[in-house]
Amino acid sequence: MRLPDFEYFEPRDVAEACALLGEDPRLSAVFAGGTDVLVELKSGLARYKRLVSLRRIEPLRRIEFSERNGLVIGATATVNQVARHESVRGRYPGVVDAAMSLAADQVRNLATVGGNLCSAVPSADMAPILLAHGAKLRVASSDGERVIPLGRFFVGPRATVLEPAEVLVAIELPPPGPGEGAASLRQGGRLSLSLPVASVAALVAMDGPVCRKATLAVGAVAPTPILAPSVGEFLGGKRLSDEVLAEAGRRAGAETRPIDDVRSSKEYRLEAVMVLTRRALRKAAERVGGVVS
Ligand SMILES: Cc1cc2nc3c(=O)[nH]c(=O)nc-3n(C[C@H](O)[C@H](O)[C@H](O)COP(=O)(O)OP(=O)(O)OC[C@H]3O[C@@H](n4cnc5c(N)ncnc54)[C@H](O)[C@@H]3O)c2cc1C
Repeated sequence: MRLPDFEYFEPRDVAEACALLGEDPRLSAVFAGGTDVLVELKSGLARYKRLVSLRRIEPLRRIEFSERNGLVIGATATVNQVARHESVRGRYPGVVDAAMSLAADQVRNLATVGGNLCSAVPSADMAPILLAHGAKLRVASSDGERVIPLGRFFVGPRATVLEPAEVLVAIELPPPGPGEGAASLRQGGRLSLSLPVASVAALVAMDGPVCRKATLAVGAVAPTPILAPSVGEFLGGKRLSDEVLAEAGRRAGAETRPIDDVRSSKEYRLEAVMVLTRRALRKAAERVGGVVS
């Protein structure tokens, strides 16, 4: 299969990118790493006539951390840049887990975190951990900027609240709170480079053996990546015993709507969510010295 013809633009700033997209919004798309959009064009899934690349807009590639404001991941920072960034490695290990589970080095060197979210596939590897961290998305258009909580970004498989000529500029995560640990785990398919059949991200705040607060998010088991709020409600103020973790897994499973498809049965997906929930919560707690018994 050959790539169809399209026009390719390389604007120097976000305003120019928004203006170019706005000239023909229905037939234009942002081009970040291209690992999704080129595949879509080649397979006939998308029919864009204009690709507006963000690759020459240097500020969009930056990753910055401060104790006060937390982490800002520029929309075109690649998955590997994020996984290797010192502050991310030191303070957001769950983000590193998720990044390192996405495909292989060749893809991670091109694939951007912003592109992963904007593709909005239910199994997008970066989505659950960013949901668990309460990420906010900074989005620009010719009318200015707005901020969208990631929890309100996805509206269905491959669908987001982004308007056609809007550009995701940055992903913002709050600074880690006291006793806070995170982990992200996925169950892959049997083929190398396969998307997860289920993924789980956990963020916990531990006071020694007691879980003060927990946030759990899951991927590939509903039309969009989702939060599982009943897990956090159940875990607050509890010791993370095996029984408590098992109940957390059941609650996470009850929040999902898994489907049968070529990659997995829904029963297997449900089982995977329950197991991954127990393991992710344990790993997140152990990362901050929380006692799990
Ligand atoms: C071999 C292979 C293996 C893969 N394995 C995985 C995997 O294991 N896990 C996984 O989650 N994904 C996987 N993917 C999918 C893909 O690599 C990721 O989703 C990637 O993060 C997409 O980022 P990108 O920069 O390449 O996006 P692009 O392809 O450039 O863009 C993707 C979509 O998002 C839009 N977009 C991108 N950036 C912005 C922005 N800043 N503002 C507005 N819209 C934007 C584009 O218009 C397009 O619709 C795989 C892909 C390939 C080819």
